[in-house]
Parts: sequence; structure tokens; C-alpha cells
Amino acid sequence: MTPANPAPALSGRALSLAMLALISLLLVGCTDRWRVGDDDPPNILLIIVDTLRADHLGLYGYHRDTSPNLDILAERSSVFERAYSHSPWTMPSVASILTGLEPREHGVSQWQDPLERQLVTISEVLQEHGYRTAAGVSHHILMPEYNYDQGFEVYNTSVLDQGSPHLIASSPSIAQFGLVQTRPRRREPWFVLLHFFDPHAEYLDHEGHHFGDEDMDRYDSEIAFTDAHLGTLFERMAERGQLEKTIVVLVADHGEEFRDHGRIMHTLTLYEEVIHIPLVVYVPGFEARRLDHVVAETQLAPTLFALAGLPVPPSFGAPAIPFDKGGFLQADDYQVHAETREKANKDAVIDGDWKLIRDNKRRRFQLFDLATDPGEKKNLRSKERARKGALASEIEAHAALPRTEVQTLVLGEETKEALRALGYLGPEGDQAPPQDPPDETEEVPAELDPDEAAAAVHQQRGAANTTTQ
Ligand SMILES: [Zn+2]
Repeated sequence: MTPANPAPALSGRALSLAMLALISLLLVGCTDRWRVGDDDPPNILLIIVDTLRADHLGLYGYHRDTSPNLDILAERSSVFERAYSHSPWTMPSVASILTGLEPREHGVSQWQDPLERQLVTISEVLQEHGYRTAAGVSHHILMPEYNYDQGFEVYNTSVLDQGSPHLIASSPSIAQFGLVQTRPRRREPWFVLLHFFDPHAEYLDHEGHHFGDEDMDRYDSEIAFTDAHLGTLFERMAERGQLEKTIVVLVADHGEEFRDHGRIMHTLTLYEEVIHIPLVVYVPGFEARRLDHVVAETQLAPTLFALAGLPVPPSFGAPAIPFDKGGFLQADDYQVHAETREKANKDAVIDGDWKLIRDNKRRRFQLFDLATDPGEKKNLRSKERARKGALASEIEAHAALPRTEVQTLVLGEETKEALRALGYLGPEGDQAPPQDPPDETEEVPAELDPDEAAAAVHQQRGAANTTTQ
């Protein structure tokens, strides 16, 4: 730090660098660090930050200092530049992370769909192999009634006692739960899942993390606030020497829209701002690397099993991300299929640099070249007819695969009341969450083929006179 540096640079960044120095010191002096291939399995800390856009983190190039502590973690970790969720909202995406199954396979596609008990979850597998398992979650839609507690000895939802998860700051409690559950004297190995929720709307402005008064400014404030509490957790774990024997994963269930394509929030579209997710994996002894092949959230669980030296159960069908003793390896792109069935009905396929989105309601296709157009502004559907046709066939073939239908959940009165208070339930108890404006207001990318633009205008005019659910 030179005297010429302005005062603000002394705050978060300086603390983070001190933390890095501390971690390095501890790691250099350590002799009993866990390594891939060791007989004893490692601890696993899985951090899911709800509604966290990859491109709003410093480690993915964001211009604001929203994530000094995650940036430090990333400097020692494998950072996946192109990780995707299979769905743009919490329930199906978290179900995919836990089961390694796509939404069509686990069957969670609408908010009242439970995670069926017969599905095998990462927590059940690790528990079977002797892991102590604990989870702290911060939203009603991950309540035990939805069966997300499968395989967890401890499943803590106490943060919900503090009030609406949309209005409270839950990161301090979740981080504190993490601190307690990762204490060295507890039984090892352990698997701890922490579900942070603060970046989700409503966006609160946090003292010390003020970026402005607009929605996106306060969203960034929520990210920085979450990052600060993660920093505390990482620092304590480093002090305890726990980063030497713990795999740490940071992932999001989906991102968030700020009118990138005309919408706000998430759930109804499959653009990059909602399904391109951050994925950072810290493995003791691994070289820090950045990998830019396409990976999916369903690859995470099999990868963790492989790192821990455990067999991968057959239901976890996606391939583990390859690695050797030195670190993760660059690999071929995984072809990712994503979908949303909650109010909207859309499918997408990401195949290398190309992405095709199919709007099943409007029978409309959007084809994007993500290498030259990462913001998805130019629909190349007409210019690249052969490619569009090939990817449409991929979506078609995928859609023809068997789907799991789940028994819609009958909620208890208490959960019903809580969801009603959050606006998830109407008077009849069967309305979809009010997370987005109705589908008919969706805007299309600015630069469209003339024929598609005309069709879109026609669709919007028609929709304006139509009542949708
Ligand atoms: Zn979510």
C-alpha cells in the first residue's frame, strides 16, 4: 500500500490481502494437508449463494469491488468461467445441485413440487460414507416439507424465525452456523451446506457497502455484505488450519436480471444473466487455475465424490470434471440443457460457443454466438439456419426423453401461512410466486431479424389482450 493510494482502498481490499497472507502462512507451515488420493476423505463445504450473477463478482471481471473475499478464495482455487445452472430459479436448480439430475429427471419444475424421497442426494451419499452432514438454509422453499433435508443430520432453518427471508439480512446467521458446524473438534469428515439468500430481492443497502440507490446498486450491496460474512468464515477456517483439509465450493443457483433483456428478477427466461453461474472450487494442494470449458451444476456432485475418492452412484449421470493430482484439467465443453416451466415454458441448449433458446409458448427461437455476443443481443436464427436446425434437433431430442412427474405437495398450515405472507400463495393457495412481471411484457433483444421482430410485435400486441395466469 503506497501513501498515494486513496483512503477507500484501505478498507475491504487491504483486509483481504491480510487474509491471503495469513492463509499462505498457514498452508506453507502445514504438514498434514489433505491431498487428492489420500485414504481419509476431506471435509466439504458447499456454499450456495442464491441469485448471484457471475458477472457481478470481481473474480469474473466486475468493475465494482463487490467480492474482495471471494476474489481471494478464487486466487487459490479453480475458477470455472462457463458454469451453468439447468434452471433459472431456486427449487429446480438446488435440486439439480443436490441430486446431479436435470429438472426433467428430478421432476421439480414448479414451486409446489417436492424433492422426492426416493431420489439420491449428495448428502445421503456422503452420510453413507461416514460424513457428518449439516445444512443451514434461508428460505421457506427449501424447508424440510419439500424434502431438501434428505441426508442431513442437522437441517437448520432457524434464520426464518427472524422474519421474511426477502427482508432480513440472513448472511450473519448462516455464516455463524457455518462457523459452528466447521469447528475442528466436531466429528470429521463433515459435509456442510450453507445457503445464503441476501442478494435475492428485496435488495437492501448495507452500511459499509453502499454503491448507490438503484436496484442494481443495492443488489451489489447485498453481494458485498454476503462476501464480508464469507470472509469472516474463511478467515476463521484458515486460522483453525481447516482449509488444509476442506474442499470449498462456491456456486449460485441462478443469477438475476436487470433489464438486460427487458425483465427484472428471474424465473422466466434462460439468458446468460440468469443461468451463467459462478463456480469456484478450492481443493487443498491443487494449483489455482481458470478453466473455460462449459460445465453444468449437475457435474458438481460427481466431481466432489471423485475428489473424495468415493464411488459415484449411477443416478449421478453427468461426468465428473476431470482432474489430476495437480488440479482440474481443461476438458471438452459439456452440452448443457436448461429449462423453465414455472409460468414460462422454455428450453435452451448451450453447445460450446452457441446457445439456442426455444420459447415453447410462442414457438420462437433465439440463436446466439456467445463468443462474439456474450450479451445475447443478436439473434442469428435466420443467418445460421443449419446451426439453428441442428441445435433445435438437440432440444427436440432432449425434450423427448422421459420426464419424472412428482406428486404436488400438500403444505402444512404453518408453511402455507409463511408462503402466503411472502406473496407466494394467493387466496386459493395455488398461484405462482410473484417473482416477475407477467410473461407478456417480455421484451426481445434489440437486434432481431426483421421477420422475427415482426412476429414478436404481433405476439406482444396479441398478448396485451390476453389474460394469463
Ligand atoms: Zn434462488
